[in-house]
Amino acid sequence: MKISFDFHLHSRHSCDTRKGSLEELANLAAASGITQLGFSDHLHTPYNLPDLASSRQEYLSLPSFSSLKLYFGCELSCVSQWELAEIAAGKVKDPVYGIREGGPPGGQMALGLGEEEIKQLGLQYIIGGVHWMLYEPLTPEQAIRSYHRQYLFLACHPLVDIIAHPWWWQGAWMDSDHCYRSYPWFDNFRRIPISLHQEFIMAVKENRKKVEVNISAMLLNPRYPESFKRQYLEYLSFLRQQAVFLTIGSDFHGFYNPLAIERASKILEGAGFKGEDFWQLEFVGLDKNNGLS
Ligand SMILES: [Zn+2]
Ligand SMILES: [Zn+2]
Repeated sequence: MKISFDFHLHSRHSCDTRKGSLEELANLAAASGITQLGFSDHLHTPYNLPDLASSRQEYLSLPSFSSLKLYFGCELSCVSQWELAEIAAGKVKDPVYGIREGGPPGGQMALGLGEEEIKQLGLQYIIGGVHWMLYEPLTPEQAIRSYHRQYLFLACHPLVDIIAHPWWWQGAWMDSDHCYRSYPWFDNFRRIPISLHQEFIMAVKENRKKVEVNISAMLLNPRYPESFKRQYLEYLSFLRQQAVFLTIGSDFHGFYNPLAIERASKILEGAGFKGEDFWQLEFVGLDKNNGLS
């Protein structure tokens, strides 16, 4: 199989990137054989809205590309209602990544964007991602519970189209060489009970969400052990066997790497995936009245 679409790409407007103009990225993606490309810069809380608005401005000024269909989306983090209220009340200085400490463990989850802003920004699709625990005590069991709770929230949320990189992790339990070898699930992905995967699968299918196969943050993440990646590929195959809609995102931040696209294509092909296993964006977000049809 050959990967020809990519719905998860960050530009210089992403708070964690600050490089890569949309035109540069589109040219590089087209040269890598991509025919459908979606930009999806981060939004954690409304604090990041000006970045997304700049991304939109640049998107609107793009020239047309003969071999490339472009889309405009964003990657929304699952956050807490508590931090949204704190930020709205002006209690924090520069909350680029929201407020990552001090909130109520197990409190109410939220997205930092509503239907009105989605219309204003012309967002054609929303990727929902879990990027952190929500103030629970730091144990592998709590990490699994927190992530699962957030995945179910995203899977049931009416504004979310795609669930980003299931079980991506960053932060605690990183070794001094920046690699992850142990907790929360890198020594053994089977620490996550299969019943949780089944519950997630039921939720995404019932709500017709797409689940992302993420290239740079998961399949090719140099910080994750190969043994974990093999188990993760089994997990993705399990999702496919269960007829979950899958989609593909490079998650490149401000660059485009054709070799990575090629490597990921080979890995997926080796695991038995075919191009038709993947849902494409043409079918997503048609009800959002943003000119997709
Ligand atoms: Zn992400
Ligand atoms: Zn991303």
